[in-house]
Amino acid sequence: MTNLKENQVKGILIKGIGGFYYVEAADRVYECKARGSFRKERITPLVGDHVVVTLSGDDSYHAIEEILPRKNCLRRPPVANLDQLFIVVSSCQPTPNALVIDRLTAMAVKSGIQPVIVLNKADLESVDVWKEAYEKAGFPTIVASGKTGQGTEEIRKLLAGKTSAFTGNSGVGKSTLLNALDASLGLPTQAISQKLGRGKHTTRECTLLHVADGFVADTPGFASLEFDKSDIIMKDELADCFPEFEPYLEQCRFFPSCRHLNDKGCAVRQAVEDGAIAESRYSSYKLLYEEVKDVAEWQLK
Ligand code: GDP
Ligand code: ZN
Repeated sequence: MTNLKENQVKGILIKGIGGFYYVEAADRVYECKARGSFRKERITPLVGDHVVVTLSGDDSYHAIEEILPRKNCLRRPPVANLDQLFIVVSSCQPTPNALVIDRLTAMAVKSGIQPVIVLNKADLESVDVWKEAYEKAGFPTIVASGKTGQGTEEIRKLLAGKTSAFTGNSGVGKSTLLNALDASLGLPTQAISQKLGRGKHTTRECTLLHVADGFVADTPGFASLEFDKSDIIMKDELADCFPEFEPYLEQCRFFPSCRHLNDKGCAVRQAVEDGAIAESRYSSYKLLYEEVKDVAEWQLK
């Protein structure tokens, strides 16, 4: 990166709306326009981007001068540089789906985003089985209830100093949890939108919110996440996206060509039988492998 000039500041893009970009730098938010050169290069500034802003000095707009290299970026919702992905599931109403969760953890790992598993609505039903599976996987796993406040302190600690996103099916309690973390957010929850008699998702732009000393991407209208096409996991990479497989991979009899399916002398399979790796995680691995086994490199271009 070029050194900052006297009339430049570095900041993080927290909101983009109608061609204006809002960049937070040292406690202040600057209203900016993007330099024309970005459009030529077909680069659109994204919420979460770390940028260099040239201050106008008069009453014209400040300008986004440079977008610093992105650590990762999601296609939907459009957000860059996530540190963490909070995958929120609920003990019931709706019940968790291992494949849905494990697809997300794998994509996050591949993109360099730390997955955090939030087992919500723990006040309704036990989440012990899930807790065990994800603790074995090595992911931070939080037993929570947006209703009683259980787990919110742990979430608060993880949010500090990071940029995070929350994902999970509609109704798992994401908005309730975020409101429990910071009441001033006042996010609409299902309970409220039902009372008002309208759907809770009105389309809005993605923004970064301040929550518990960190940033959280507020992504209304995005029921599910979409990663970049370039982030598709190839079959040979899949095992690396299951961090708990790592200690066993080299012990497979046919390392490095073991696919960890029904291969003879597979140490991963053995670890599942010994209970060191959760069955549900291994099942997801096999299902995901089936999905990607015929995807060739050239199809991603
Ligand atoms: P979102 O769609 O993921 O944002 O879910 P909401 O926050 O709108 O919550 C969906 C419904 O679940 C609402 O009726 C909430 O009151 C309820 N709910 C949310 N969290 C909890 C919880 O921890 N325990 C219980 N019992 N209900 C919850
Ligand atoms: Zn193996």
